[in-house]
Amino acid sequence: MLIAAILRAKGPEVVSVAPDATVASLLTELAHNDIGAVVVARQETLIGIVSGRDVVRHLQRRGPELLDAPVSDIMTTDVVTCTTEDTVEEVGEHMTRRRFRHVPVTSEGRMVGVVSIGDLVKSRLSGPEDDHARLEAYIHGG
Ligand code: AMP
Repeated sequence: MLIAAILRAKGPEVVSVAPDATVASLLTELAHNDIGAVVVARQETLIGIVSGRDVVRHLQRRGPELLDAPVSDIMTTDVVTCTTEDTVEEVGEHMTRRRFRHVPVTSEGRMVGVVSIGDLVKSRLSGPEDDHARLEAYIHGG
């Protein structure tokens, strides 16, 4: 299965913050959108990614003053992306090997979505159900 199929199912929304946004506002985005990571962008150019795990790690080191610090202090700049034409298996392998759970998706140089490890697992689980539905349709002449 291609990443494009996952994006078709979940939609293209990309939640992003500016690098000078505070860590407190990043937490608001994570909580309001019920997500685990946010893309950091400047004028639609991807410059980093920051996840809840980054906040936990830095909060433990720096204490509550971190909340007023800019997101750029804690983001990862060496972002691994994928394209809509990559397979779920390829991207899942990257996530497992590099130990991260979110990958921004690009198409023709533009960012068109983000997939999480949860999205990949869900797409795997829906396989047998689809097979089941196809089989039923066949049996009942659908
Ligand atoms: P996560 O598993 O998404 O919470 O991320 C774990 C760590 O990897 C954090 O330090 C993130 O900033 C970083 N990270 C998450 N996604 C990516 C990615 N696509 N490319 C590079 N680093 C990432």
